[in-house]
Amino acid sequence: MSVDLDSKNQTGAGTGIGRRAQMQAMAASRAMSYTSKLFAALLGLLACFCASAGELSKADIEQRFQDRAVRVGAARASGSALRVGEKLRDIPAWPLISELTPDAGPVGYVFESIDLAPIPGFEGTPMNLLVAIDSSGKFMDVEVLRQHEPVFVGGLGPVPFAEFVKQYQGKNIRQEIRISTGQSVQRGAGGANTVVFDGVTKATASIRIANQSVLGAALVVARARLGFASQGEGGPPASAKKLPFERLDLDTLVRRGYVQRLALSNADVEKLFAGTDGAGSDAEALQKPKELFAEIFVAYLNAPNIGRNLLGDEAWASLQSHLQDDRPAFWVATRGRYPLVDESFVPGSSPPRLELVQGELPVQLRDTNRDYARVPAFPDLNAAMILAVPPLAGIDPGQAMNFRISINRARGEMFPVVTQKQLDLRYVPPPELFDYPPKPLPEWLQAWQGRLTELVIIGAALLLLTGVLLWPRAISANPRALFLFRMAFLGFTLIFVGWYAQGQLSIVQITGAIKSLASGAGLKSFLYDPVSLLLIAFTLITLLIWGRATFCGWLCPFGALQEFVGLLARAIRLPRLRLPSRLSGRLAYGRHAILAVLAVTAAMAPDAAVKMVEIEPFKTAITVGFQRELPFLLWATGLLLAGAFVYKFFCRFLCPLGAALMIGGKLRRWNWLPRIEACGQPCQRCRAVCLYDAIEPGGAIDYDECFQCLDCVGIYHDAARCVPKLVLASKGKTITIRPSKMTH
Ligand code: SF4
Ligand code: SF4
Repeated sequence: MSVDLDSKNQTGAGTGIGRRAQMQAMAASRAMSYTSKLFAALLGLLACFCASAGELSKADIEQRFQDRAVRVGAARASGSALRVGEKLRDIPAWPLISELTPDAGPVGYVFESIDLAPIPGFEGTPMNLLVAIDSSGKFMDVEVLRQHEPVFVGGLGPVPFAEFVKQYQGKNIRQEIRISTGQSVQRGAGGANTVVFDGVTKATASIRIANQSVLGAALVVARARLGFASQGEGGPPASAKKLPFERLDLDTLVRRGYVQRLALSNADVEKLFAGTDGAGSDAEALQKPKELFAEIFVAYLNAPNIGRNLLGDEAWASLQSHLQDDRPAFWVATRGRYPLVDESFVPGSSPPRLELVQGELPVQLRDTNRDYARVPAFPDLNAAMILAVPPLAGIDPGQAMNFRISINRARGEMFPVVTQKQLDLRYVPPPELFDYPPKPLPEWLQAWQGRLTELVIIGAALLLLTGVLLWPRAISANPRALFLFRMAFLGFTLIFVGWYAQGQLSIVQITGAIKSLASGAGLKSFLYDPVSLLLIAFTLITLLIWGRATFCGWLCPFGALQEFVGLLARAIRLPRLRLPSRLSGRLAYGRHAILAVLAVTAAMAPDAAVKMVEIEPFKTAITVGFQRELPFLLWATGLLLAGAFVYKFFCRFLCPLGAALMIGGKLRRWNWLPRIEACGQPCQRCRAVCLYDAIEPGGAIDYDECFQCLDCVGIYHDAARCVPKLVLASKGKTITIRPSKMTH
């Protein structure tokens, strides 16, 4: 005789348990809808406090310059005492004036990073650093003004961060700054222009964000005030390649693009002024529209195959010794009706009709006043000069740039109306003439590169876990195999993911993400912590499939630590207290209350919230491995002790992250734990085994409480342990399990 035990989903219709479960589901859904609304309102509040702005007045900065070592560094750099000038109007920075040469202009600038590069940290708000650079782009000093990075607020404390920023003193913004993580960047790595800073163990991601904040802010000031162009974002500039010299004639120079030109007819220029006051004001242009208005020539002289061929050997050698450095120099000449300069031009100054633009940054070129600029190969030029880029402009001669020519037209005699138009000669450097150094990877990509080994190992572990959860029968049917696998995986989670790779997720990441999004800064800061990002991504995906249980049951290092403490407690025969369901259900509201209070506090009083998140013992137990002040140690060990008696005490009654994941777990699409008719009616075997009280008396699974230990799955698949199947087997009946569509 054969008996079919129809397996079903616990919310299946048509049975007593199914109806009960449906009613429970409806009630839960109503409760959830209120919870979601409350949570959404709280998150809305949270979004209100994300403004970021500088916090120091001029007097504050002056005070700091008197009080701090920055004054020493700054004074040393400038050779005299400094005073702080009035705040600039175009950018939020203060000029630093030398007391010895007050009329010589600023010798440096001081500014708050939050005004110029407000990059959110892990807590969601940008850190703020006071940065001072001198007029050559050298860092005078960097000081931490404000930061909420969880690892530096508590945990390691602020000292390692303050020590880290001291390394900027004396380094230049033009240098490539790399952060050593101990594994990824070795000292001496990179070229001569590379400096390697010591990172801070356990805080690499926060340190990278700090570095981006300092460099980003300094670059804005350097561009606005020191004439820096794109270097710093795009890496070191290209340099002229050392090629065998070729004697080239003028045609070849033009054909190869070594000399580039732009020819404008009178008609072209008339068209440019169409619709303006300047239209029709040039009689000659109207009479001879096809004739040449101006032809402009540009050549990059630093490349010998251009410079020597164009100027001649002797003149080019003379130019090289005149420039004395590698700053780019261009030959610019014109012929036609409109010369590059008029008679009022002062040799050695910047030609007012010409500007170089690379990226968005305009650079004033300066005449080198070389008489050999008038090259014999071009006899009919009306102007020719050798123009050099200012020493600190930082343009990249290997990248395209625009030579912008201004044309003025005046209408009227007494009070002429002047109209100005500009045209660009797009200069594209011939690539064969340049050595292009490799572009440095973006800071966040360096973080990924530096942690590749950890990512691969954790990625492989996540794949293994996914396989086990998709096909749980293979491992769970054998209780010993399941126990060994689970303990091994939890050991990996605690030791490798938590203590070694610093992959403990925390409620701070959720509040931080919301604050970052609300402030419009996006979630870029997460890119700096690839291990956490991998775990977050996996957790989000598994929320949809299995609910919060995958993270809490397998991937939370503190959760794993509690498991081991529970195991140890059993080994030394401590009693396990199983709280009555009613009491345990009431206590479980504690974690939701804590989550709500945290969210409101984060919205109303962010500084207090930073302290309140210490309710999570993660930082103490995992991030800094119990190396903290006594109160934190007492809290963390107290919680573990409570967990020794009441299984997963912190998880079940206090953890705000668990509560937040529980809300996210409502998105779970499948009820993946298999149930049969007899579950709960009358069989209570799984319920008795479930240490998390996640199985209701009626047999239904409370997925909010389930920690995915797979014990009940093993029983379900093991006819020797599943009581109804045992009973039927003892009666000599053959048992067939027909899994429902909702289960594995
Ligand atoms: S409830 Fe909290 S401590 Fe427990 S496993 Fe989940 S996240 Fe970790
Ligand atoms: S025994 Fe409990 S915690 Fe474990 S998988 Fe089953 S319902 Fe979840």
